[in-house]
Amino acid sequence: MFKPESAQATGNLRFAQDSATLIHFCEQANTCAAIIDLSGRYLAKTSDCSQRFGQQQTAAHIGETHLADILAGAAQGTGVRLICQSGDTNLELRSEPLTGLDGQRSAVALFWLNPDNAHNQDAANRSTEALYRSLLQQSSDAIFLFDPHTLRLREANQRFRQLLGLNVADEQQLTLLDLIVAPMESVRQNVQRVLNEGHVHIGERRYQRSDGSSIEVDVVASLVNINDHPYCVVNLRDLSQQRAHEKAVQKLAQQDQLTGLPNRVLLLDRLRQAIAVAKRYDRQVALMSLNLDRFKQINNSLGHNVGDALLQQVAGRLALGVRSSDTVSRLGGDEFVILLPEISSTRDVAMIADKMISHIAHPYLIDEQELVISPSVGICLFPDDGEEPDKLLRNADAALFNAKESGGRCYKFFTPEMNTRAAERLALESRLRRAIEKGEFQLHYQPQIDLQSGKIIGCEALIRWQHPELGMVPPLKFIPVAEESKLILPIGDWVLHEACRQNRAWQQQGLPSVVVAVNLSALQFHQKNLQPSIARALQQTGLEPQYLELEVTESAIMSDAEDVLGTMKQLRDMGLELAIDDFGTGYSSLSYLKRFPVGKLKIDRSFIRDIHEDPDDAAISTAIISLARNLNLRTVAEGIETAPQLAFLRDHGCDQGQGYLFGKPLPAAQFAELLAAQTHGAAIPPEA
Ligand code: C2E
Ligand code: MG
Ligand code: MG
Repeated sequence: MFKPESAQATGNLRFAQDSATLIHFCEQANTCAAIIDLSGRYLAKTSDCSQRFGQQQTAAHIGETHLADILAGAAQGTGVRLICQSGDTNLELRSEPLTGLDGQRSAVALFWLNPDNAHNQDAANRSTEALYRSLLQQSSDAIFLFDPHTLRLREANQRFRQLLGLNVADEQQLTLLDLIVAPMESVRQNVQRVLNEGHVHIGERRYQRSDGSSIEVDVVASLVNINDHPYCVVNLRDLSQQRAHEKAVQKLAQQDQLTGLPNRVLLLDRLRQAIAVAKRYDRQVALMSLNLDRFKQINNSLGHNVGDALLQQVAGRLALGVRSSDTVSRLGGDEFVILLPEISSTRDVAMIADKMISHIAHPYLIDEQELVISPSVGICLFPDDGEEPDKLLRNADAALFNAKESGGRCYKFFTPEMNTRAAERLALESRLRRAIEKGEFQLHYQPQIDLQSGKIIGCEALIRWQHPELGMVPPLKFIPVAEESKLILPIGDWVLHEACRQNRAWQQQGLPSVVVAVNLSALQFHQKNLQPSIARALQQTGLEPQYLELEVTESAIMSDAEDVLGTMKQLRDMGLELAIDDFGTGYSSLSYLKRFPVGKLKIDRSFIRDIHEDPDDAAISTAIISLARNLNLRTVAEGIETAPQLAFLRDHGCDQGQGYLFGKPLPAAQFAELLAAQTHGAAIPPEA
C-alpha cells in the first residue's frame, strides 16, 4: 500500500497530477472545467474554459459574491451550485472541493454545465470518483485504471474494450501483465516510474488483443488518487492507422508508380545490403542495367499510353524472370536495373542476361497491335568492377552503352576500357566545341549518278573532321557525340551553309548545275527554326532551292508524326526535295510514306552489298524499288561498288546510284574536275 512518508513528501505534487488528469478527462469529454486554489487563482483550465473566459488569472469574473460562496463551501467540504451567464446562455456553475493526498482541502474544481445537456448534469451530480468514471467513459481515448500494487484492472472504458477486443467480464480477471507484450521486469519498472514521477509518457508499446493478435499503441500513464487510494490511469492511443499510413508513405517513396517495381531509393538500399553481405561471405554481386532499344521511337510515334503499357508489360516479364532474392527496379523512362545478390559464376549471369533478352524480345500485344522491342544489357560485378553502389551503377551503365553501340539486343560485361572510352568521348566533345571556330571541318562530295544516262546529277555532302592531333576523324565516330551534346545544331548549320555556298560557286564557275544533298540529323529536323535557317542559307548563298536536297533517316521522321508532317510540308513548299536515308533499316510504316511529301528513298548500303549472294537482300531491294514506284518516289541505291550490283539495280528499275564504283567522297576541287570532265562527254562509269 501507499507509504505515508512518500505521500507526505509528494502530496502536493500528486495533487497537481490528479488535477491535470481531471482536466485531461474534462477535455476529452468536452466539458468546460477549471481548478482554482483557495484564493480563487486558476491552477488549470480546459481549452473550452480558456476560450469562454479568456486568459483570466483568477475566477473573479464569475462575480465577487459567487466566488466567495464557492470558496466558503469548499472550506466546509461541500460543493456549491450557481446559475451564471456566459454570453447569451445561462450556465450552471458547480464547484467541488478537492482534497490533496495530505488530507488538506487545497483546491476547488469548477464545472460550467449547460443545463440542457443531460450527461453534464449527470457528471456533476456525482462525487469526484463518479465524475472520473463518467468522464472516463466519455473519453475518445482508450483508458483503463489499474492498481499499481496488485496490477489488477479496476476500470476501463468502452474504447479500451473495443481496441483490445475485451468484454466487461474479462476485465475483472485481468492484470497489467496479461495486457502488455513485454517482459514482466520492464512492466514493473514502468509502474514504479509512474509511482515515483506521477506522470510518465511510456511511449510505444504492444498490447495483447483477445484474438491473439497484438496492437501498437502510444502509452501515457498518470497516478490519480481516488478515495485515498492511488491508481494508475493509462491512456492508449492506437497507432495502427498511423503505422499503416507510414507504411504507405514509405512504399510510395520506394516504389515506381508506373510499374510498382522498387525505385532507385529501394534499389540503392538493397544494393548496399547485398554488398555488405557479399563482403562478409566473400561473394560476388551482379548488377544489370537494362534498357529498351529504340523505346523513344515507340513512345513518340505510338503515343505515351502505348509506351507506358509497354513498360508495364516489360516490368512484369522482368519480375517473373528472376528469383525472389533478386531485385528488379525501374529508375525512370526505360531504365531498369536488376540486382542479383547471389551469383555463383559469371557464366550464370551471362545465361540470365541471355534468357532475359530473349524473354523481353518476344512480341507484345498492346491495344490490339503487336509490338516488338529488344533490350540491351550492361553487367558489372562486385567487387571486381567496383565496391561502391554509385560506381557499380555507373559501370553497369557504361557496359550498357557499349551494348547499345554494338547494335543493341545483346549484353556486355563491364571492362575498365569502357571507362577510358567514356573519358575519350568527353575529350572528343570538348575538341568538337572548338572545331567550328578553328575551321577544322570540311565537306567532301560524293557523286550521284542517273543509272540510265550514267551522268552525274548530284552529290551528297559528307562532313570530314581534320583534327591537328587526331588526324581524320570519321563522321560515325563524332556525329553521335555531336548529337548527344547538341553540338550537331551549329555543326549542321555550318554544313548546310557550306554545301549551298559550294554548289553555287560551281554554278558560277560555269559547271553543270547539280543537286547537293545534305544530311540532317534528327535533332536538327525537330528543331523549331529549321525552316528559317535553311531559308537563310539559300538566301545568303544565292542557291536556288531546287538544287538543295535534304536527307533524313527513317527514325527521325517516325517520331512525332504530326510535327514532322508540318515541317516536311514547309520544306516542300520552299521547293526542296526530301530523301529518306538508309531506307529499310528503321521502323518505317508504309502508311507514313504515303502521307509524307517525300521525293526519294535511298536504299541502305547493307542491302546492296550482298545483293548477289543473299536472296533476301535482293528481294528487299526489288521490293523497295517497286514500292517506291507505286508511291511515285524515286530510288537511289547507296554503296554500289561493283558492276554486277549496278547491272542488277539498273535491270530492276532503280533510278539513281551512289558508291565507290562511281566515285568516293571527294574534296570540292576534285569533284569540280569530275563535273567538268563530264561536260566534255565522259560518262561514268564505263558501261557495265
Ligand atoms: P550516309 O548519309 O548514309 O552517307 C553515306 C555513307 O556511305 C558515307 O560515309 C559514304 O562515304 C559511304 N559510302 C558511300 N558509297 C560507299 C561505298 O560504295 N562503299 C562503302 N563502303 N561506303 C560508301 P561517311 O562519309 O563515313 O558518313 C557516314 C555517315 O555519317 C553518313 O551516312 C551520315 O549519316 C553521317 N554524316 C556524314 N556527314 C554528315 C553531315 O554533314 N551531317 C549529318 N547529320 N550526318 C552526316
Ligand atoms: Mg546520307
Ligand atoms: Mg545512307
